[in-house]
Amino acid sequence: MGPAPSVTRLTAPEIAAHLGVPLLRGRQILAWVARGARGFEEMTDLPAALREALPAKLRLLSSEISEIRESPDSTRKLLVRLEDGELVECVLIPAETRLTLCISSQVGCPARCAFCASGMLGFTRSLLAHEIFEEFLHAAHVAGGAGEITNLVLMGMGEPLLNYDEVVAAVRRLPLGKRRITLSTVGLPDRIRRLAREGLPLNLAVSLHAPDDETRNRLVPVNRKYGIDEVVAAARDYFRETGRDVTFEYILIEGENAGPEHARRLAGLLRGGNLNVNLIPMNPVEGLPFRPPTPENVEAFRRRLEAAGIPVHVRTPRGREIDAACGQLRLRRMKTSRPPPSGGQQPVAEGPPRA
Ligand code: SAH
Repeated sequence: MGPAPSVTRLTAPEIAAHLGVPLLRGRQILAWVARGARGFEEMTDLPAALREALPAKLRLLSSEISEIRESPDSTRKLLVRLEDGELVECVLIPAETRLTLCISSQVGCPARCAFCASGMLGFTRSLLAHEIFEEFLHAAHVAGGAGEITNLVLMGMGEPLLNYDEVVAAVRRLPLGKRRITLSTVGLPDRIRRLAREGLPLNLAVSLHAPDDETRNRLVPVNRKYGIDEVVAAARDYFRETGRDVTFEYILIEGENAGPEHARRLAGLLRGGNLNVNLIPMNPVEGLPFRPPTPENVEAFRRRLEAAGIPVHVRTPRGREIDAACGQLRLRRMKTSRPPPSGGQQPVAEGPPRA
């Protein structure tokens, strides 16, 4: 017999059947998990006898926090150990009135963009919906409650649209509230159009990074399959169908895509339609030759887009010191073996405060 199944991967009827209790109990247990319970003893509306029997039959979560690192700018990176020992990262980024959580959708990444650390170690596997959901639960615990997280971005390791079904299922399980959720993709046109029909409250970010096929083929190899016009057309369709925010991410890399001519072509490509541009000075990645332009050149690029009427924003890099900035997420630690089972209880993580 394997370890007890985790609550997060079951539905309410499955929990009830597994325990041989009424459906209501399954619903209560799931609601507690969504509210951030870290132990069955917290589930005070369950009969005491059931509460005590639970740890032998179920685990709350399938994953655990293995490490938390904090950067001087208060960005926190959580390393989460999955059931099979694989590790993924998620990042909590505070800013003024916001707290943004950036979560991963895959272990490694198959997209292999030229400037990104995530693909450098290859691709191991996609996450399951409950594992993505658990990243949120862990981060909410560390943040002091789910309500603290105001923005959620699927912008960590992996290409979410190459793990379509599990990502969509995970988003459906997230307690939404007023939270803004953005999915960032390398730009897969057919999947963007399919996503537009899911009826999810998802903003879209497309990692464009170039104004023409020649440049984009080099930086984002996936582009060779679709071409940049198709990618931009799909993003326009997403906006037309959902009315949600569509943003193009554009990393500025010195000598590659950051010249005046690139800015002019980008403005031409995005003219018309409510399309925003997020300029991101490239975060240096150890072992890669790419560098960001000078702040003056970043500013000049921004001004050129603005002058052409394109809504543009420059994103400040955060968490660089702990390799938590965009494109720096990459596992530096070797896999460690699963800890021994501790009576079916979710092991207490090394780092986080007890809420
Ligand atoms: N696969 C998805 C989501 C993960 S990458 C995507 O491509 O959008 C999240 C964002 O970080 C993308 O815009 C990606 O291009 C960007 N990024 C990757 N490497 C970077 C780096 N070194 N500096 C700055 N941004 C980077």
